[in-house]
Amino acid sequence: MKIICIGRNYKNHAKELGNDIPKEPLFFLKPDTAIQPKGHPFFIPDFSNEIHHEIEIILKVSKNGKHINQKFAHNYFQEIGLGIDFTARDIQENCKRNGLPWEIAKGFDGSAQISNVFFNKKEMVLNNINFSLKNNNITKQIGNSNNMIFSFDEIISYVSKFITLKTGDLIYTGTPSGVNRVSKGDVLTGFIEKKKILEVKVK
Ligand code: MG
Repeated sequence: MKIICIGRNYKNHAKELGNDIPKEPLFFLKPDTAIQPKGHPFFIPDFSNEIHHEIEIILKVSKNGKHINQKFAHNYFQEIGLGIDFTARDIQENCKRNGLPWEIAKGFDGSAQISNVFFNKKEMVLNNINFSLKNNNITKQIGNSNNMIFSFDEIISYVSKFITLKTGDLIYTGTPSGVNRVSKGDVLTGFIEKKKILEVKVK
């Protein structure tokens, strides 16, 4: 399986990092080794001094597809969860400055946190999903899928022009503003609506 991540999909987050609003979806990949085994803490890697949390809605791909028409994109995912796209911001800024790829800032071990629970999409109003992240019980990020620049269907259609989607792939759909540095001892929790479905200890 593969992990596809959309960047700069919320205006308020693109702005907080000083980036332009994209005209087309921007995406990058994480390897499957980025997935944190459930219940394990996240260890801050020694190569970065600035690991940021990015809370994101995740789509689980339910069907293989290529060149998916936007009209049919909704047939390619049934379940929705939550994830944290951990980012070595100091390294990413260096990559951006030098026009280098982002893998070392985005694809390291443990950088893909995944919720324990996925919801059937029929239980949700897809363009009105509230989600949030707390660090040590203080709310740091609040998002609503209505504020995405590119919708779930647009993302699936766009990505599948370049890469075949396969059952079990995960798509991280972008983070709202409020990304912040994590420190040893932090406890991050993720919520869809009021339900806590993700918890990770930082070590
Ligand atoms: Mg992200």
